[in-house]
Amino acid sequence: METYNGPICQSCGMPLTSDDLLGRNKDGSVNKDYCKYCYDNGEFLHKVSMEEFVDMCSQFGEQAGMTNEQMREFCEKMFPTLKRWKKS
Ligand SMILES: [Zn+2]
Repeated sequence: METYNGPICQSCGMPLTSDDLLGRNKDGSVNKDYCKYCYDNGEFLHKVSMEEFVDMCSQFGEQAGMTNEQMREFCEKMFPTLKRWKKS
């Protein structure tokens, strides 16, 4: 597997490989930090804590080609590095 170095969603870590995947600000402009599954119309679609979001995402391991347990581990490592969850 090649290492992906492009932009990723700063909420869920999904690779933002195309502008179609980007969320929208309230004024309709593109938000380059977040994907459309996390962010739309100027706000986050899932208003949850990081722990709750890990729970949500770890149910989709299969879609990412791993087990749900692997997905949970992956999310627990990655989410704290993302802008939405990073403690400033
Ligand atoms: Zn996202």
